[in-house]
Amino acid sequence: MAGMEVVLLGTGSPLPNADRCGAGQVIIAGDDRVLIDCGWGAARRLFAAGIFPMLVDTVCFTHMHSDHITDMPDFMIMRWVGGAQKPLTVYGPTGTKRMVDGFLDALADDIRFRFAHHGDKLSQDGIKVIVHEVPATPDRAHIAEVGAMQIDSFEVDHFPVVPALGFRLDAGSASVVISGDTKKCDNLTRASQDADVLISEAMNDNIFKVMRQRILDAGNTRQAAVMDDVPDYHATTTDVAEMARDAGVKKLVLSHLIPPVPNEGPLADAFANGMSEIFKGEIVVGRDLMRFTVGAP
Ligand SMILES: [Zn+2]
Ligand SMILES: [Zn+2]
Repeated sequence: MAGMEVVLLGTGSPLPNADRCGAGQVIIAGDDRVLIDCGWGAARRLFAAGIFPMLVDTVCFTHMHSDHITDMPDFMIMRWVGGAQKPLTVYGPTGTKRMVDGFLDALADDIRFRFAHHGDKLSQDGIKVIVHEVPATPDRAHIAEVGAMQIDSFEVDHFPVVPALGFRLDAGSASVVISGDTKKCDNLTRASQDADVLISEAMNDNIFKVMRQRILDAGNTRQAAVMDDVPDYHATTTDVAEMARDAGVKKLVLSHLIPPVPNEGPLADAFANGMSEIFKGEIVVGRDLMRFTVGAP
């Protein structure tokens, strides 16, 4: 049984960073591709990864924060104009349908203009979206089968963002878990049990404090005050290492870095400091467009 391939599209967060786009990753098994989250820049990264949007028929959203959803309109249009002939299927928490309908509504004139210009060359179905809002459950709930991939969702703790989901994808004996945005969460640890790869958000407390101080020193007291709330609903690098250890995952990939450090340099080098003392498996500080295989090649 062949395994899966994971491509990180965006490893950043809402804080702007030149190296890191908003959240997004593609999981591939055979000819099937599942896009998980579509934050700012993720659609553009698809091209850079050599994955044309028209080849993606399934999208899963973890939650409705902007850094996970705002490339969805471009993705839908690129997929459709790129030749998609069947509707896109979307899974996500409550709020997903409103988000998708809202983006489609904003694009209504664009869609009308393109049909007026290109007529039957464009598929009527290719711009349609079938949305399944899935319940948020403490334990894994099976939500979809896409080719060889079985997709489960589970609730994570990103309060006051309720509901917020994580996903686990299994193909044969290969397994990958996407944390979504969460603070330390038993549901995530349980869902990650013995997984080959856990792709987790992570906040480095020390680097975060340095960045906050820089913003304060620059005189932006309002932004610094907003940043004070950020640690409330994210997992520190220590938390993430503990969850990976307790779940017994083989490999830990940090994505959705807070703060989004540059790809190179002392901050990137220091991001995972201390984690290997807690989690003994492989730890990777993710970068946009990084790709790796999960399970048998
Ligand atoms: Zn986020
Ligand atoms: Zn979030």
